[in-house]
Amino acid sequence: MSGLQSVEPTPPQLLARLSECLAAGDPAAGRPAPDALEACLEALHLAERLGLAFEQGRAGAWACQQLLLMGRHAEMLSRARELLPRLGSPALARERRELLRAVAASGSETGAFDQAIEAAQELARGSHASGDAGEALTAAFALAVCLERMGDSWQAVRLLRQALEAHGERQPCMALLVAANAVCSVCIGMLHRLRGAGSESELSATLEQGLSYGRRALALLEVVPDPVYEVTVKGNLGELLLHSGDLAGGEALLRDALELAGQRGLRAHQWRLRTSWGDGLLAGGSAADALDGMRELLAEMADEAPVQTAIRANDCAYRAARALGRFDEALGFFEQAERLERRRTTAQLRAQSELFVTRSEAQRAENDAQQHRRRAAEFAAAAERDPLTGLGNRRHLAARCAVLLPAAEREGRSVVLAEIDVDHFKDINDRFGHAAGDRVLIALAQLLRDSTRADDVLVRHGGEEFIVVLPDMTLPRATEVCERLREGVARQVWPGFVPGGPMPQVTISVGLAATPSFDLDDLVARADGALYEAKRLGRNRVEQAC
Ligand code: GH3
Ligand code: MG
Ligand code: MG
Repeated sequence: MSGLQSVEPTPPQLLARLSECLAAGDPAAGRPAPDALEACLEALHLAERLGLAFEQGRAGAWACQQLLLMGRHAEMLSRARELLPRLGSPALARERRELLRAVAASGSETGAFDQAIEAAQELARGSHASGDAGEALTAAFALAVCLERMGDSWQAVRLLRQALEAHGERQPCMALLVAANAVCSVCIGMLHRLRGAGSESELSATLEQGLSYGRRALALLEVVPDPVYEVTVKGNLGELLLHSGDLAGGEALLRDALELAGQRGLRAHQWRLRTSWGDGLLAGGSAADALDGMRELLAEMADEAPVQTAIRANDCAYRAARALGRFDEALGFFEQAERLERRRTTAQLRAQSELFVTRSEAQRAENDAQQHRRRAAEFAAAAERDPLTGLGNRRHLAARCAVLLPAAEREGRSVVLAEIDVDHFKDINDRFGHAAGDRVLIALAQLLRDSTRADDVLVRHGGEEFIVVLPDMTLPRATEVCERLREGVARQVWPGFVPGGPMPQVTISVGLAATPSFDLDDLVARADGALYEAKRLGRNRVEQAC
């Protein structure tokens, strides 16, 4: 009975189905996000089965776009993390850029700022390399989203306006629409931050700026129509009109945007628009309806709520409850908004210290090749630095040794690597607190700096562990140097402790390994063995690897 046998589709059939799915999953096709996502996932599966790397990359990147639109950020970020290393082919450069832009957006939305900034920076590097004005705008957009979500709306606007000026706004294009809409959306963020804190003139200047870019974005939509941006642009402009007191105009745009978002399955947009709608109700005097709307929204979003939307929903609910005289309830929403804001701030600070995001770095998007090279060098230097002690980090060690060790091998010179670890450092933290532990690490780093030569490579290798690479050094001499260092540490008076009060007794153990071999990993492994031996023999000692 042939009808009951499962018939394996032939490769040509699979291929035909694959191209159908890709056509349906193409973001440009404007299908509702859930349908497009389903098509992308099927295409991904088929491409994997057929071993087609290009189609796999494309379907994967498009699936991520849809996940972003649906507000499924965590899923999107984890897929993107896996996918990015596989999108290296020049044929997929566009998909890679789109994906990086999506990562910047999702990462910022969920507080994964390190991932977001890394993506934005890659976009900036790419745009400098290509010199393409549209790409530069996209990169500025991605970085601005990060800055905005990290709380620096002012820097975000400055960056976007600079990029718009550099672009010259010659031809209406998608990148221009995206950037104009971004200025508008950042202005909304600023208005929220300024509420109750800014001066009247600051508020009205921000509002004017937002409205003007919002109107430009709306006009650009006529020339470069886009199903998703239609929702965002109308939503943003609608919200700004509400702020400006034009309740009827604002509501009309928001209603339109909400309907489109619903039709197109743009769940995250719908959530965000509902908070604006709540603001509109509140402004129109319907506090009870606003409160109901926000309660319903918060329950629906639950754990999936994007941070910014959740903050806004809680804030709107707080103001609505307060207007109704329900102060206990208002306080609950207020506290929730504060909690989320604090979490966002913490994530922001962490990302900033890890990645050295500075104002000047943001200006890299100025599309000036020379400046780009200088800043790229600065950034590379920052990436090799340990923020706590200012010493180099592991990356620095690898970079320096990649040059130093082969040269020493060629020239027949001996090099010693010393691994230095603080003894019982955990006890110091436990007894005096983590901040005191940090002070000891900073002072120890300075002591090491003062005790090493200019050519030595000194890095913080991990928590309380340092490595010094000593060129032109023999094992006996290195032992003498490290013994002196060890004694110096044991005698050191540590800063920031009350004189006469309890003072940490800091000692170090050191493991030494000498060339040959000239392989860094090998040297580190041997020094590590010697360090282990020093610990085993009672600590506060220097041991050599055999
Ligand atoms: P041992 O003598 O065996 O090396 O003991 P130890 O306590 O020094 O080693 P262990 O590896 O058990 O603990 C290292 C501690 O260093 C634990 C960790 O909390 C702390 N630490 C790591 N990085 C930092 C930092 O940046 N600041 C502070 N204050 N402490 C840190
Ligand atoms: Mg230790
Ligand atoms: Mg250690």
